[in-house]
Amino acid sequence: MPPRILIVGGAGYIGSCCAALLQEAGWRTECFDDLSTGHRQAVRGPLHVGDIRDRAALSRVLAAGRFDGVMHFAARSLVGESTRHPLRYFDNNVAGTISLLQVMADHGVNRLVFSSTCAIYGTPERLPIDESHPRAPVSPYGESKELVERVLAQVREREGLQVTTLRYFNAAGALPEQGLGESHHPETHLIPLAIQAALGQRPPLAVFGDDYPTRDGTCVRDYIHVADLAEAHRLAMQRLLDGDAGDAYNVGTGIGTTVREVLDSVGRVLGTPVPHHPAPRREGDPPELYAQADRIRRELGWQPRQPEIDDIVRTAAAWAASPRF
Ligand code: UDP
Repeated sequence: MPPRILIVGGAGYIGSCCAALLQEAGWRTECFDDLSTGHRQAVRGPLHVGDIRDRAALSRVLAAGRFDGVMHFAARSLVGESTRHPLRYFDNNVAGTISLLQVMADHGVNRLVFSSTCAIYGTPERLPIDESHPRAPVSPYGESKELVERVLAQVREREGLQVTTLRYFNAAGALPEQGLGESHHPETHLIPLAIQAALGQRPPLAVFGDDYPTRDGTCVRDYIHVADLAEAHRLAMQRLLDGDAGDAYNVGTGIGTTVREVLDSVGRVLGTPVPHHPAPRREGDPPELYAQADRIRRELGWQPRQPEIDDIVRTAAAWAASPRF
């Protein structure tokens, strides 16, 4: 029997791509999402509309589904917004996850893959960042994910929850052949903004800081293709299905790319330069973030298939040419 997985937050960017690729691999998925930031059109298969803090709604879905495991993508994820509305982040991300964990326990669903973030490490003390790097988040968003990781560690140790935490670096790219990609309102992420600026759909891009101590003065990030992230989820859940207790893994390529290099890539892919101008640094942006992702390669056999920035941008551009939502 193929695994049956509840994708919580399955109408969002990463959750919807993951659900589509699991289905392609023959897995059965159902989605639970409140559609606050996700899109109904992104969901293939059953969609249960609800809020993860609504235990009765979650309970109905878990009672009916006989799920082998849950993948939990539902969260607020904007660093800037979290500094203005911290309670919103702790309520959705921390209280929401506790609600999900309680309902899973009520229904004997014992396997979870949880979306975490490199934001839990804060400003790096050393690079590349491995999983043992000190965790010192600098935003309420990062803090909310770090708190959940601590809750999960306790529930694993004391209640035997099988749980793997995936600490994403910068999710990017799209699945144009599946009609899926990134569509945030408002959009805040570099690659879609740069593509839209190059296509003349928005004003020139503001480069947040060009005086960082990096090779060209702009911030370095580790962009990871959403299809590679999805594969990390499949492998992580498969390992739990095989009986493993789970672990925490960074998911990145290990390649650091500057903002300017991203703009150059978008210019190459689209054949037209990205209009841009320098702007002040954005609060809470560390100069450099890139992963040491050896553990997931070694233990789960994961490896990124599209690590090159041009390949990532190409898929994002193909999606941006005809976004379906
Ligand atoms: N960035 C930028 N201009 C923008 C949006 C982002 O210069 O309009 C920079 C941002 O400062 C960071 C990088 O692009 O260094 C990636 O930002 P994004 O918001 O995509 O992801 P984050 O790193 O915040 O998760």
